[in-house]
Amino acid sequence: MTKWVYSFGDGLNEGRADMRNLLGGKGANLAEMAANGLPVPPGFTITTEVCSAFYENGRKYPADLQAQVAAALQRVEQSMGLRFGDADAPLLVSVRSGARVSMPGMMDTVLNLGLNDETVEGLARSSGDARFAWDSYRRFIQMYGSVVMGVPHHHFEDVLEQFKRANRVEDDTAITADQWRAIVVDYRHIITTHAGTEFPTNPHDQLWGAIGAVFGSWMNPRANTYRKLHEIPASWGTAVNVQSMVFGNMGDDCATGVCFTRDPSTGENIFYGEYLINAQGEDVVAGIRTPQPMACARAEAGQHPMETTLPEAYGELLRVRSVLETHYKDMQDIEFTVQRNVLYILQTRNGKRTAAAALKIAIDMAREGLITQEDAIQRVPAASLDQLLHPTLDPKAERVQLTRGLPASPGAAAGAVVFTAEECEARAAKGEDVILVRIETSPEDVHGMHAARGVLTTRGGMTSHAAVVARGMGRVCVAGAGGIHVDYAAGTMTVGSHTVAQGEWITLDGGTGAVYLGRVPTIEPALSDDFNTLMGWADAVRRLGVRANAETPDDARTARRFGAEGIGLARTEHMFFGPDRIGFVRQMIIADDESVRQKAIAALLPFQRDDFASLFRIMAGLPVTVRLLDPPLHEFLPHAEAEMVEVAQALGKSVDDVRARCAALSETNPMLGHRGCRLGLTSPEIYAMQVRALIQAAVMVEKELGKPIRPEIMIPLVATQAELATTRRTAEDEIARVLQEEGTNLNYYIGTMIELPRAALQADKIAEYADFFSFGTNDLTQTAFGLSRDDAGSFLPYYVDHGLLPRDPFVSIDRDGVGALVRLGVERGRQTSPDLKLGICGEHGGDPDSIAFFDEVGLDYVSCSPFRVPVARLAAAQAALATRQKAGQAV
Ligand code: PEP
Ligand code: MG
Repeated sequence: MTKWVYSFGDGLNEGRADMRNLLGGKGANLAEMAANGLPVPPGFTITTEVCSAFYENGRKYPADLQAQVAAALQRVEQSMGLRFGDADAPLLVSVRSGARVSMPGMMDTVLNLGLNDETVEGLARSSGDARFAWDSYRRFIQMYGSVVMGVPHHHFEDVLEQFKRANRVEDDTAITADQWRAIVVDYRHIITTHAGTEFPTNPHDQLWGAIGAVFGSWMNPRANTYRKLHEIPASWGTAVNVQSMVFGNMGDDCATGVCFTRDPSTGENIFYGEYLINAQGEDVVAGIRTPQPMACARAEAGQHPMETTLPEAYGELLRVRSVLETHYKDMQDIEFTVQRNVLYILQTRNGKRTAAAALKIAIDMAREGLITQEDAIQRVPAASLDQLLHPTLDPKAERVQLTRGLPASPGAAAGAVVFTAEECEARAAKGEDVILVRIETSPEDVHGMHAARGVLTTRGGMTSHAAVVARGMGRVCVAGAGGIHVDYAAGTMTVGSHTVAQGEWITLDGGTGAVYLGRVPTIEPALSDDFNTLMGWADAVRRLGVRANAETPDDARTARRFGAEGIGLARTEHMFFGPDRIGFVRQMIIADDESVRQKAIAALLPFQRDDFASLFRIMAGLPVTVRLLDPPLHEFLPHAEAEMVEVAQALGKSVDDVRARCAALSETNPMLGHRGCRLGLTSPEIYAMQVRALIQAAVMVEKELGKPIRPEIMIPLVATQAELATTRRTAEDEIARVLQEEGTNLNYYIGTMIELPRAALQADKIAEYADFFSFGTNDLTQTAFGLSRDDAGSFLPYYVDHGLLPRDPFVSIDRDGVGALVRLGVERGRQTSPDLKLGICGEHGGDPDSIAFFDEVGLDYVSCSPFRVPVARLAAAQAALATRQKAGQAV
């Protein structure tokens, strides 16, 4: 018999933390905490396998599930001394979803399940508090109605708001039992009207309704979107946790809260969190009342920290904080409830954190001896380093502060104000910078938040939905800016007498919570000591070298600042577009008189020499790979009439002649046309000029710096051995001439890009003429798939959305196809030349998953854009550790 249900609490713990695939993160940790003696109310977890079986069998449960749930429920009844549905002393439960990784898009929680018109009276009697019982009942109807029966939440909110206004009540806690009783009648009516069916009064029906809703929510559109964004397979399924209720809303000796063992924004080792007296869990997250801080040290005047209001429970919570951190060896996000001064832990999980916090926590924990340096390297998601490199506001810039909220997620962002996720997505798709402004956010807004530069909410705390989700995504977020009044219908936000309309710009400072009018300039971040420490640790374990793709002095300097070990790709065509050069480039292409043409080429030489010399100076002896001209010539052709006239005058030709020559040079399929080495072969003087400029620059800088300069000449778009052999000969002849003229010698390397499938297949032959290979995975992806780099945008998203491709292959290497060509190229190249230096310089060089693959196939280095260099250094270290671990396991 398959075991579908696992109990936890009160001495029977059938699960463990390492069973999260089966029990979900929540279920596995509840069992682990209970087994470690922490105060966890008893309950049980229905496994993720039930979810999979449910979907495989046309949404039907396994036959023996009902009996297993009944038995587990009975055990909870016994340990609590209560009965589910009992009119005198009813057991109430919470029902919560729990996948392997937390997923905000899914049904989250139903509390107080088991209440009906009879059991509510029993709860009133057994607790001695009718107000509490009726408050719990109305909460249950509201939650169950909205999350299980699909009745929009605001219908309930409207009734409550109206009631409070009519009765001049401000705070929910001031509403009496009889008043809640009347509200319950209205709530039941709302359900009947909007769900078209009665509210279920049988607790068992309620329970199965909620279980069904959790499993159903696994496939809802929000969950699907979230899974897609985070690459979570649908096959994982969710578990369901059913747990005995404990109450934080039974009076002033009760409370509920969320806390983090360290600060999730900065990573500081400070106990951090929020709680509310006399409340239930959703009150904290929903931002309906303003939560209070945990510790006195964190409290401002007028606040009531838990440390003073509930000192006993607070002391116990401090103990739990340390037990959990030591046990899990990671920062924990803990949900708790205090019922009549007794602390209960309802959940623990590794806390979501900003990239800065992830870094600080990893470094601190390694220094505290809680984890190893290698663990620390693996704890920081490589892609998240991008966030640390985000801009902050220029302190010298003028600014007008509109208002202030909570600094929920760091960085600075400016953009046009929009009020809906849809508008946000639509404008962002057109390339506009947008700030999403909402009263509060919900999982429905996640796609808009993703598209936004920043998120601003008027309600909710540091653990509100907006704060948690923005932090996870690395979006700037200012939350709970209560001074703002948002009018969705009018499309405005107002602070005092100042109104900002949709489309007007504001700037958010996620580090301070300030909101400014207009666009405030930003500056690049300074890298922290922790960042440098982690990079140092990563460098000590990685095998792959990391270079940068850079051709301007600025990019080259940035690359060095971020630790690049050389330039892996300088695209020389980017150097040809400067206003002082493009005229000569055009003359070089269009001239049919050889002497005019040679003059234009000669005019370009000093520019190129300067370009290369500055790269050599900045790289100071590190390898610099210069790729000879690659793109189709017609990209440089004059388009506007004025440009045509200019070229015609310079060449002494008519404009019509120039136009005719341009037409002759145009191609139907330029990406597969006259580009790369094909150009070098048909116009060898262009490559000769580039090689001459490069060698002259190297000789000059070598003398200047007094240390060897290492130029690497790279030939693009090679498909055959003959192409490389001929181009190499031209280059070497020119190099010999220059070195003779200069009367000196120089070490140089000539290699090729492997960016066509034929080149990968012929790598053994091509390697006979190459000192190095650099895989051009952009063109290799384009040509292996037969998928235009420039046109794929119109249909590739469809492929990814419909599961025809797991990811955009231009972003993350297609291991099975393009990757197989890379692997083959490596093997065949090294067959000929065992010491052949191998790199990759396509965009994949900065993608952590692709870097893991390049490490696996044995490349020597990756080359990526300068800002991705730190990402690549860390990803390379993580890849090396993963390889070591695999090897260790295999032994
Ligand atoms: C490539 O094709 O991967 C490459 C690096 O060259 P480019 O992007 O310039 O074509
Ligand atoms: Mg290319």
